[in-house]
Amino acid sequence: MEKVTEYFGSMVFDERVMKAALSEKVYKSLKRTIDRGTPLDISVANAVAAAMKDWAVEKGATHYTHWFQPMTGVTAEKHDSFISPAPDGRVIMEFSGKELVKGEPDASSFPSGGLRATFEARGYTAWDPTSYAFIKDGTLYIPTAFCSYTGEALDKKVPLLRSMEALSRQAKRVLKLFGKENIKSIKTSVGPEQEYFLVDRELWKQRKDLIMTGRTLFGAMPPKGQEMEDHYFGSIKPRVAEYMADLDRELWKLGILAKTKHNEVAPAQHELAPIYKTTNIAADHNQLTMEVMKKVAERHGLVCLLHEKPFDGVNGSGKHNNWSIATDTGENLLSPGETPSENAQFLLFLTAVIKAVDDYQDLLRLSVATAGNDHRLGANEAPPAVISIFLGDELAAILDAIENDTPYGGTAKEKMKLGVDVLPQFSKDTTDRNRTSPFAFTGNKFEFRMLGSSNSISCANIHLNAAVAESLRQFADVLENADDFNSALHDLIKENIKAHKRIIFNGNGYDDKWIEEAERRGLSNLKTTADCMPRICDRKNVDMLVSHGIFTETEIFSRRDIMLDNYVKQVNIEASTMVYMARRQILPAISKFTADTAASVSAKKNICDTACGYETKLISELSKLTDETDNAADELETAISKLKEIDVITEQAEFVRDVMLPAMDKLRKPADTAETLTSEEYWPFPAYDKLLFGV
Ligand code: ADP
Ligand code: MG
Repeated sequence: MEKVTEYFGSMVFDERVMKAALSEKVYKSLKRTIDRGTPLDISVANAVAAAMKDWAVEKGATHYTHWFQPMTGVTAEKHDSFISPAPDGRVIMEFSGKELVKGEPDASSFPSGGLRATFEARGYTAWDPTSYAFIKDGTLYIPTAFCSYTGEALDKKVPLLRSMEALSRQAKRVLKLFGKENIKSIKTSVGPEQEYFLVDRELWKQRKDLIMTGRTLFGAMPPKGQEMEDHYFGSIKPRVAEYMADLDRELWKLGILAKTKHNEVAPAQHELAPIYKTTNIAADHNQLTMEVMKKVAERHGLVCLLHEKPFDGVNGSGKHNNWSIATDTGENLLSPGETPSENAQFLLFLTAVIKAVDDYQDLLRLSVATAGNDHRLGANEAPPAVISIFLGDELAAILDAIENDTPYGGTAKEKMKLGVDVLPQFSKDTTDRNRTSPFAFTGNKFEFRMLGSSNSISCANIHLNAAVAESLRQFADVLENADDFNSALHDLIKENIKAHKRIIFNGNGYDDKWIEEAERRGLSNLKTTADCMPRICDRKNVDMLVSHGIFTETEIFSRRDIMLDNYVKQVNIEASTMVYMARRQILPAISKFTADTAASVSAKKNICDTACGYETKLISELSKLTDETDNAADELETAISKLKEIDVITEQAEFVRDVMLPAMDKLRKPADTAETLTSEEYWPFPAYDKLLFGV
């Protein structure tokens, strides 16, 4: 067997390859672009393109594609071959700097939220040299950003890069005040833990709902669910273990640092976590990971479900966004230091995050909002739709002491003076116990736990970076003008703790009492996508995002429309699939079973004088459920046609929330009850027990 150290990154055009394949001058110039964002010369681009092509062809690649992340949430690609005709009738393999740097996919079918009229439908893709090119399935993939011809962002990468820039700009101002003049750049890093389900491919094929929507729209609970909690970290079954090993291998070849794998809480649920990376690369890698997860599953006769709630009654899947900020000199700004000044700096960044999360709760909430994730947030398994921060008791006590000018630690004689006194050391373990918090401090990073398993991590990080950049901007404005830095710093932190402590909550986030408490504290509780998405256009949000150059106002409005449109379309597909399954599969099956049961009643009565108590009761119950199912299907059909009559997207979303989703619930209930009464042989698709315990 080949050694991991040998094949890791073998399909990636990384530093190693660049160094070997490029002249020193070209390499240095490209490095400057990667590290500092300096513009790339066309002669350098040509040299890089030629080297990339030679390397890719050597590895068997025939095509290249610009790889981008339009607002659909999945990645897009259009493959071109390297071939170019040679005079003697043969072909040569060619790839120019121009082709590397810029692409022009026919973009008219990607959502733009009205940003592009169809007559100027073309957008262009621009190479992101900070994310390495790689080979997959015989094609050279070039990570790119996607813009309209007038420069508006049509994807998730452009604003993500802009948000990292904004945070870097403001954090540099702050660090300067701590005497750190030579920081060139500050980057955020993310380690996204990815949850997923595996089901058997043959069973999957028999379920229209899984095929069309990625989740089960019907299905009664099996006798056993996750109540035994025997799956979490349980031993991994051989078939799953083989899948995971194969997956690791494929990801490692692509230079993705897949690190941890284990079973999750629900049966058939698993998790994969990579080692953290710079955010835009982490985002690319996470998209790629999701793709590879699905592809490798096929090879094993499995299907990988990335939907947030594939099954009712057992946990859904999320993605934990472990996020930190670090300087190019390797200093983690969210790591408590050892000296008074390091501690003061840490507390300032900590306070900036606290303020950001409080001021922009709505932006964080809506950054993770999708039809799928609405099934998770606020249900019993995932953090609620209310955003709060978990700091742990020790850190909370320190902030408390600062806020109230009281001694920290009970017996201490003196009050703590920031920038002068040493903070008590707090151990990392005590910060990592609360698993119910949507936004938890875990020693040297924050873990944002509200993301859905199928979400791109980009949106969450765009809003998070932007909000923190805004806190830092305000802090820098104050501190740059202070006469006495240390006392201004102390006051600033104190004031901000006072102003934003309502967002800190160290208790059980799953407790209903917390929701009541949160309401008293004035925290927002935006339950659905329809509730939260329009908030992106609130004045305060638009002003903040525009002022940091992350979005233009037009881009923000278009994004709201695209996200709401996704929500409406997704639920509409689910509703139509339900009607299909009810009318063409479930009702006929129950009806046939009822008829056969009725026939057996007559048969039995012919033989002996029996009351046929079981059959009679069953027939009457099933007949009632049949009618209920049929009526509910009618109602849902009516809702589907009514939706078509609504023009305004925000109203469509409200209709989906208020009418369509409740109508879907109403249809599911009698059908699921009927399932528990109908013979297995008659049921038209595999039941939950098979799906959940079948691998
Ligand atoms: P848990 O399941 O306890 O939350 P894991 O070890 O599974 O923890 O995942 C933690 C994730 O956080 C990993 O992806 C890890 O690489 C990432 N991580 C660790 N340190 C940092 C950091 N400084 N910044 C961002 N992510 C980090
Ligand atoms: Mg975690």
